[in-house]
Amino acid sequence: MSTASEGPTDGVWCIVVAAGSGRRYGAPKQFERNGDERVVDRSVRIAASVCDGVVLVLPSAAASEAVEHATVTVAGGATRSESVRRGLDRVPPDAIVLVHDAARPLASPELFERIIAAVRDGAAAAVPVVAVADTIRDVGGGVVDRDRLRAVQTPQGFDGAALRSAHAGAPEGTDDAGLVEAAGGRIELVEGEATNLKITGPQDLAVATLLAELADGGPDAADSRR
Ligand code: C5P
Repeated sequence: MSTASEGPTDGVWCIVVAAGSGRRYGAPKQFERNGDERVVDRSVRIAASVCDGVVLVLPSAAASEAVEHATVTVAGGATRSESVRRGLDRVPPDAIVLVHDAARPLASPELFERIIAAVRDGAAAAVPVVAVADTIRDVGGGVVDRDRLRAVQTPQGFDGAALRSAHAGAPEGTDDAGLVEAAGGRIELVEGEATNLKITGPQDLAVATLLAELADGGPDAADSRR
């Protein structure tokens, strides 16, 4: 496997959370097709290419499904944070842990490697971020200085002990770095990717399908894999 298995740990494991119901999308978006594979399959395949193990967290009804490249599958919970905790239970104790949203199938292996490197260098949490292009307005009034803002992505990477202690007491949050920060851990911001979009609405899937074709070498490359 990759250099991920070197060092005095149980290697690098990634929890891919895919147990959402797709309330905003209108269907479980992680099972939609993204080019020649499903959104969830692409997310797991790329995670597995740089990690020693992948814990895939699926909706309860689909939890026994065998997904290629997933080391183990488990049933998720009612919230994203609960789903992460269910995945964390299956990660070896001394592993570096990544948490990745299945809904971000375009995160590149290079981004995963940057995150892993930052954790190896001592960050409790490493978080990919991108600058905000739009002017941002506070609905309470006033324009917010966007130079001070960053949009947060996944995969996020963690020292395993820091992530476990941040999740003790079953807190809720929209990401895991926020929980580690609330528990006093040092967060390191890492350059994310503009193409690492999160599939939220149907228009995102259309864009993601084009980006996946580009990342994989164009539509002809997709044909040759069929
Ligand atoms: O709902 P949202 O888009 O923020 O979800 C982010 C990721 O968390 C998605 O990949 C979704 O499948 C996952 N999730 C989960 N369990 C939940 C809710 C969301 O695994 N209960």
